[in-house]
Amino acid sequence: MNNAFEFNQPVAIVSGGSRGIGRAACAALAEAGYAISYCYRSPGEAALETKASIEAIGMPCLALQCDVSDAGECDTYFKTTLKHFGRVDVLVNCAGITRDASLLSMRFEDWSDVLNTNLTGTFNLCRSAAFHFIKRKSGTIINIASVAGVFGNAGQTNYSASKAGIIGFTKALAKEVALHGVRANVVAPGYIETDMTLDLGEKIKTAMLERIPLKRFGRPEEIGAMIRFLASPDAAYITGQVFQVDGGIII
Ligand code: NAD
Repeated sequence: MNNAFEFNQPVAIVSGGSRGIGRAACAALAEAGYAISYCYRSPGEAALETKASIEAIGMPCLALQCDVSDAGECDTYFKTTLKHFGRVDVLVNCAGITRDASLLSMRFEDWSDVLNTNLTGTFNLCRSAAFHFIKRKSGTIINIASVAGVFGNAGQTNYSASKAGIIGFTKALAKEVALHGVRANVVAPGYIETDMTLDLGEKIKTAMLERIPLKRFGRPEEIGAMIRFLASPDAAYITGQVFQVDGGIII
């Protein structure tokens, strides 16, 4: 228990914080003065690199393994964070996977793994956090969807459905919790350079680039900046919204 920070420093939970956009979210929130708790799926040294970088800038950081598709693990992860820091102010649901295939060749596991991780995982952590946020009459939820959930991507019926689901879920949640002083918003990134997009073929990348008015892919830090804004008091009057950070691809 890090008693020095208990109750007097805001705390942010970030799922999928071990790399990519989740790591950038951890860094942006730590720079804004948040103590960080993040979870990751697979153990190993790489999973703890974010923790080292957050502690290097002088902020406390808790890193725990948790499969977000498992409601019990999410509840334990949330309660462990609460016990460790004494409070939670912000939840960022960033954990996500892809299992791309055309509908005709998509296996049921490709569908269910993606829905269970992306959509049910978001539901699981939101439900654990909502009890706490409603009780203390404040809190901010930021769910990471994708432009795929707005316009649909061929070869990603599972992923697009999970991300569209996150958008509908967050809008409904925002209406439910607003009276309790809790906000919920969505960030929908376009193509961002992370491990998730590393293996896309050159042909797909070139075709994507052609569709992006700003003519470049996004950086994880650019999503982190939007997350930091939505968590801040400057966004106090914003709830139930979808913020596309996509170089204009949706225009
Ligand atoms: P990434 O593959 O680099 O990182 C994914 C993170 O999620 C990792 O930390 C991993 O440990 C975690 N994770 C995966 N399954 C998990 C599980 N079951 N339980 C707990 N943690 C789990 O991906 P990224 O590109 O950083 O993407 C982060 C989020 O942003 C995802 O939700 C993704 O769908 C979304 N997104 C990414 C892009 C992009 O272009 N990279 C675009 C739009 C949306």
